[in-house]
Amino acid sequence: MTPKRKLIAGNWKMNGTLEANDALVRAVVAGMKQARCDVALCVPAPYLAQVQMLRHGSTIDLGAQDVSAQEQGAYTGEVSAKMLREFGVRYAIVGHSERRQYHGETDALVADKARTALANGVTPIVCVGETLAEREAGQTVEVVKRQLAAVIHVNGHCISEIVVAYEPVWAIGTGRTATPEQAQEVHALLRKQLGAATAQAERVHILYGGSMNAANAASLLAQPDIDGGLIGGASLKAPDFLQIIAAASA
Ligand code: PEP
Repeated sequence: MTPKRKLIAGNWKMNGTLEANDALVRAVVAGMKQARCDVALCVPAPYLAQVQMLRHGSTIDLGAQDVSAQEQGAYTGEVSAKMLREFGVRYAIVGHSERRQYHGETDALVADKARTALANGVTPIVCVGETLAEREAGQTVEVVKRQLAAVIHVNGHCISEIVVAYEPVWAIGTGRTATPEQAQEVHALLRKQLGAATAQAERVHILYGGSMNAANAASLLAQPDIDGGLIGGASLKAPDFLQIIAAASA
């Protein structure tokens, strides 16, 4: 099998202004002409239309940071997968630890969101990861396997269509990164778990997320089961994001 292109997805979280987005996306588009990896920007919903226009003519894919588990109807504040498709959205992050932590999202809800996304042609980027307390209690394997198992249970028939992001919660926005070996260990077990559900597990992109930056990207991306990155803070600075893209293109 030819090695798959890596995927670098920026997660802007709740950041941005019309003016700042304009400068950021223009700089990324201008700087990534030689990229040999896939690049996506997961932006706040109100900015989807703006970024859809700004990325025009580039290979950047558009992503959302969440999606409703419901198709449509009386769900105030929710954004449906169908609406995202109308804006050319290819990816939606589901189950980010900030949504699990601050919005009470359960494994079952995350699995349903992945299902609705897939049913509407949006690729879910399913986030899994343990907290510091869970890691210190030796529960990392149990936690990430449980989180992924819920998504496999509901989406087993098309599980090779998802993207997985391993994001240790203790590494998100903290400047603490998993070592390449720590990350690879978890990625390998997630691949194995996918392999029990599909013959296509090698096709699935498993991204690492958690303080990935210009300095540490290359060593993380060199690991055999790390197929890209989900980048928070560093995706807001064009030079840093471009260096990560360059590392993924090597
Ligand atoms: C994230 O929010 O998905 C993330 C990985 O953030 P950061 O890169 O800032 O740790």
